[in-house]
Amino acid sequence: MRRNLLLFISALSAALHYSLMPVDQRGRNTWLPGKWAEWIDMHDWWLNFAAFAILAGVIVFAMGAWRPALYRMLVAVAAGSLLAIGIETAQMRIPGRTPDPADLHATLWGTMAGGALAFLHRARRIRPSTVGSGSPARICFVDQTGQLGGAELMLLDLAEAFRERCEVILLQDGPFRAALERRGVACTVHPLDGAAAAVVKDSGWRGAIQAFPGLLRVVQQLTGRFRNVDLIYTNTAKALLAGGLAARLANRPLIHHLHDIVDAGHFSALNRWLLVQASNWGAERVIVNSEATARAFVEAGGRESLLCVIPNGFDPARFAAPDQAITDRHRAEWNVGDHSVFAVTGRLTPWKGQDVFLEALAQTPGAFGVIAGAALFTPEDQTFEDRLRRRAAEKDLAGRVAFLGFREDIAELMHAADVVVHCSTRAEPFGRVIVEAQLCGKPVIAAGAGGAAEIVAHQETGWLVRPGEVESLREAMAWMVAHPRERAEFGSRGRAVAVKRYSLANVVQRTSAEVDEVALKASKKIFKITNQS
Ligand code: UDP
Repeated sequence: MRRNLLLFISALSAALHYSLMPVDQRGRNTWLPGKWAEWIDMHDWWLNFAAFAILAGVIVFAMGAWRPALYRMLVAVAAGSLLAIGIETAQMRIPGRTPDPADLHATLWGTMAGGALAFLHRARRIRPSTVGSGSPARICFVDQTGQLGGAELMLLDLAEAFRERCEVILLQDGPFRAALERRGVACTVHPLDGAAAAVVKDSGWRGAIQAFPGLLRVVQQLTGRFRNVDLIYTNTAKALLAGGLAARLANRPLIHHLHDIVDAGHFSALNRWLLVQASNWGAERVIVNSEATARAFVEAGGRESLLCVIPNGFDPARFAAPDQAITDRHRAEWNVGDHSVFAVTGRLTPWKGQDVFLEALAQTPGAFGVIAGAALFTPEDQTFEDRLRRRAAEKDLAGRVAFLGFREDIAELMHAADVVVHCSTRAEPFGRVIVEAQLCGKPVIAAGAGGAAEIVAHQETGWLVRPGEVESLREAMAWMVAHPRERAEFGSRGRAVAVKRYSLANVVQRTSAEVDEVALKASKKIFKITNQS
């Protein structure tokens, strides 16, 4: 794929260069040796025809199968004709050259022939879909990371529910693969190379250019895999970029699950633009985890008609209270004494605000802090963790903070805490940890912005604080220490709401309906295209 693209770009540049060079009195190009220039001059019409046929073919391929055939043909012919007119006009300024109407004919026929051939070739390669004849759509989920972040934990539950009819492709190996396999989900890894893997949400142009070849290689691999399924479901930004293009090339519809607030706080301008354009251009549906994520997507230029809000779903059974002995063991290990235990669970990264939590904790007598989570993604996260640990060792906090690293027994840990704290300094797209705490029947203090503010009802099921503000968090923590009875009521009210609103069964059913609708619509289009050819 990469070699083909490079060959095509080199041939296009050589052809343009050749067309825009001066000619001698006999009209032959002065750039090439005389014999070659003469041969090209003799076959001028056919060479123009072939060059524009290839160009039109590439344009038709790039547009994918979902636009009407006539539309794609017209775009290819219009683009080819415009290029030809541009070249002819430019030639009027070059010594010895005169515009040649035969070149324009060749161009027109070439673009039509190339467009038609590419279209027929595509139609032949489409595997007839079985969707609609009773069998459910086969799904290929794609995720860029092997780590267990919130988006991956959501996918873990979803893929398990769909495991009879899905496979998962990861662009990096790691504990996520092992977790999927443990739940009986088919999973393969197509790793991104170093440069593509190193691109993060705030990377700019340089990173994007370096990542491009690696991304194209993965696109080629994915295209082959996608031909065996009915629908592609991408779960992260890089998965969308690689999977969106591959889905087009394989003629498969795509749903993107957007877990992030697409704004300047989370993404560089380039990545915002790429993410929104890839969704608008490549996805049949964009599933978002909250109203806040939906709003940010539209504000960034995303198409509102694509959106469908489905929150993360949870199986309440996974959050049932463990034996009291387990809870007692955890508290004894942490050595909490008679303090109220405040737990923060989530990956360690600056915007998750664990530093704000430590400052508030330092000023709250009677409070003990538990921090579960690891620095998962960037070197900056690792530096942040080191800073947190140094801060916790200082005199005003020493002996009052336990760092637990990444844990798989989050429900047990939450049950052993008295209050769960969510302290992100920016708007949280959803906030799984908040719902998890509610399902454990724990009172929650949450940063009141984005998805978190949609989950917690202030002073009903929890307490909303101003994001990033130590004093606001300290005030809420002090209130919780002083009001054990009221905080327990927050917890039980929160649980009743969460069990209903975030039921996994409900989320699976809604997702399944979206998947089947998109796949059925696409299979009808494929049927039409196959029949047209
Ligand atoms: N989590 C975990 N182990 C840890 C820390 C966090 O399993 O040590 C889980 C946590 O239970 C939650 C997810 O990681 O399900 C974090 O999701 P959230 O939406 O809160 O944040 P994200 O990481 O998606 O930004």
